[in-house]
Amino acid sequence: MELRRRTNGGRRESGAFLLGEAGAPSTIRQFIFYDDVDPGALDSGIVLIDGRRLGALWKICRDEGMTVVADVHVHPGSFRQSPSDKANPIIAEANHLALILPDFAGGPNLPGRIGVHRYLGNRRWRDESDRLFPPFHVGTYLWS
Ligand SMILES: [Zn+2]
Repeated sequence: MELRRRTNGGRRESGAFLLGEAGAPSTIRQFIFYDDVDPGALDSGIVLIDGRRLGALWKICRDEGMTVVADVHVHPGSFRQSPSDKANPIIAEANHLALILPDFAGGPNLPGRIGVHRYLGNRRWRDESDRLFPPFHVGTYLWS
């Protein structure tokens, strides 16, 4: 998997924006990897994106008529959010979903083994990881 490859053999986290159309269900049409938006995003080992680099992302969204529906990143260990993940939402918009793949995306990534965190605004999150529906359905996110 491309996200795993970009961890450089498990030496750093990697991630991507998931672009598509928000709705019920949301449809994800395209992945854009963090290090393609900001070449330095992965250098520290955890994901840090320079906000000034996001212009290219917004341009793709405008040109293609899409929005950033979710983001996904890999963790060395658990799929729970780190304090940094909670404090620094990649996209600080209510209802944005942050997905976390554990073990550098090396496992089966089955439902219940993926972190699904919904941003509520104001640095608050709701953990939806334990819900009994698959977070992805062939490129589609099924909203509750
Ligand atoms: Zn994280």
